[in-house]
Amino acid sequence: MQIHKYLDLDEGEQTISCRECGKSLCDAEKNYKEYSAMQTGPVTDAGPAFEPPEELLGRDPNLEFRQFFCPGCGVLFDHEFAREDDPILHDIELDVDSLTA
Ligand SMILES: [Zn+2]
Repeated sequence: MQIHKYLDLDEGEQTISCRECGKSLCDAEKNYKEYSAMQTGPVTDAGPAFEPPEELLGRDPNLEFRQFFCPGCGVLFDHEFAREDDPILHDIELDVDSLTA
C-alpha cells in the first residue's frame, strides 16, 4: 500500500519501505524519518521554491532545513523546517491495526 510518494507500507510485515529501491526502513508505527539519512543545513538551502520559513515558524536564528533521504537509493523522501533542538516531526502516523484489520 502506498502511503507517500516514495514510501510503501507492507501490510503483512507491517513495515515501511522505499518505493524506489525496496529497502525496508522501519516498523510501520515508527517514524520513518528517524531511519532515513538526514542532512541538515541553513534554511537558505531550501531555495526560493518554498515558502519563506520566517512566515511558518517566526524569525528564529536557530532554524534549520532538514532533508530525509532513502539510505538505500538516496531518493529524497521529505524535508522540514525546524529549530535545531526540535525533535524530528512525525508527520505520518499509521494506525496499523485499522489498516490491516
Ligand atoms: Zn530507496
